[in-house]
Amino acid sequence: MRLDRFLAHLQFGSRAEVKKMIKAKRVTVDQVVVRDPGLDVAAAAQVAVDGQAVSGALEVYYLLNKPAGVITATQDDTARTVLDLLASADLRPGLFPVGRLDKDTTGLLLLTNDGVLGHALLAPSRHVPKQYLVTMAAPLTPAMKTQLENGLTFAEFTSAPATVTAVANQPLQILLTIHEGKFHQVKRMLHAVGNEVVALKRVQMGPLRLPSDLPSSHYRPLTAAELVALK
Ligand code: URA
Repeated sequence: MRLDRFLAHLQFGSRAEVKKMIKAKRVTVDQVVVRDPGLDVAAAAQVAVDGQAVSGALEVYYLLNKPAGVITATQDDTARTVLDLLASADLRPGLFPVGRLDKDTTGLLLLTNDGVLGHALLAPSRHVPKQYLVTMAAPLTPAMKTQLENGLTFAEFTSAPATVTAVANQPLQILLTIHEGKFHQVKRMLHAVGNEVVALKRVQMGPLRLPSDLPSSHYRPLTAAELVALK
């Protein structure tokens, strides 16, 4: 991989910014000052910035607060995708969304180039819990709650018992935790109990919580603690 792309991947700045760092002779590869941003960095190369060795790990993990109106895909001929929200095209190569949120669903979406982790998080056998803030057409009745908590049978699956939590002072909202990730699952579950989803926001996936200070359409790298919790 090119040196400037390598450093941009590791969050040292945009491609233009890391080029400046390289031109300013702040970067060494195998103890030699490098001035060519296009230098090909071998997997085993020792890269340092300002004398500090940088991690050679090329895996990146971003936590995105997905807005409504973009699709969860890596590319599309007509619609905007979640990858179009990234600040720089340099961040895109190899990146993919872990799981899928509908176009009109908002909230937490993990983007990574780590295929092993992505695969593990999606494995049905892992039952990674996902929590959604559900805004409904009508208040949830006790009977509807019981049905969601008991599990619902659809053509291709039966949902594991879901957890339903009321939202204070919001009779049209619940927090719903499910353990699968089937197509339109939450919408289908609410429909099956005689209600409808009006708006849907994912607030948690496994140990990852949507940070309350991350604005819609924004993303940030996972913290070290989040990454440890995830793996
Ligand atoms: N369930 C849905 O119905 N839609 C989503 O986007 C996610 C879960």
